[in-house]
Amino acid sequence: EARPSGAEMQQALQKAHQQFKGTKDGKNADYIPYLAKVDSSLFGLAIVTVDGEVYTVGDAASPFPIESLSKPFTLARLMEEVGAKKVEDKIGVDATGQPFNSIIAIEMNKDHRAGNPLVNAGAITSVSMLPAKTPEERWKKVSDNFNAFAGDNLPVNQEVYKSETDTNTRNQSITALLESYDVLGSPADQALDVYTRQCSVNVTAKQLATMGATLANGGINPLTGNRVISADTARRTLALMATNGLYENTGEWLYQAGVPAKSGVGGGIVAVVPGRYAIAAFSPPLDKAGNSVRAQRAIAQVVNSLGDNLYAST
Ligand code: GLN
Repeated sequence: EARPSGAEMQQALQKAHQQFKGTKDGKNADYIPYLAKVDSSLFGLAIVTVDGEVYTVGDAASPFPIESLSKPFTLARLMEEVGAKKVEDKIGVDATGQPFNSIIAIEMNKDHRAGNPLVNAGAITSVSMLPAKTPEERWKKVSDNFNAFAGDNLPVNQEVYKSETDTNTRNQSITALLESYDVLGSPADQALDVYTRQCSVNVTAKQLATMGATLANGGINPLTGNRVISADTARRTLALMATNGLYENTGEWLYQAGVPAKSGVGGGIVAVVPGRYAIAAFSPPLDKAGNSVRAQRAIAQVVNSLGDNLYAST
């Protein structure tokens, strides 16, 4: 089967950008005050292939907060350091089907664990389980890992970090509940602070596509040539994105686009075609589940038009 050429990829990006830039559906996240103020018209798309080719259109060089897009990458690092079995036992790897900030999901889980690493409870637990003696060491592991995935230095957006720290009462509750069930691997305040900081890291659509392309490429960053994680960890991370990457809308997403993806409330989404490429999109207005409207429409269209829906036989 013929793979799409670079020219076809570039054209597909341009077509989707043109088609969806006028979309007015959705609304910026407003529970984090910083995100409510971001320009809603921003819209960027990027593809990075496993051969290191890069295609972009629109605001693909605009930095935005990574938010929940941080979760699969920290999870992958955790699996590398402690093994997948510990993640399966202490967090769980089934879909929750619940919103990203669900407390019910923890209560309903048979062991009172998060249930899945890509919701807030699971991501806070992941951060807490990274082997580290100090908060500084824990943060450095998270940050170095993002930089290795992106092949670039991703800075913390201090304004976002402050905005989230000042308002994250919901995540404080989740963390306290996890602590009460004794499932955290570090002091609760340290886990929440490093989690909040990882959500505040700035990324561009191009950098995000590179991070996704590292997963598509069996754990080797196609731009730097460095191995970041093992192929086994990349495969497991992608399976978790397929089952829980867009929270309670994940099934709907997989049905429409047919590829594993992850969203963040900053407006980013990255989707991965294993062995081929990753596509990232950024646009702030979100649907009710917290997933960017333009990003979902653009990615689903590009992937389907390039013949890369994983469930399509031709
Ligand atoms: N920092 C955000 C939070 O913890 C991330 C949520 C998201 O992107 N879905 O609520």
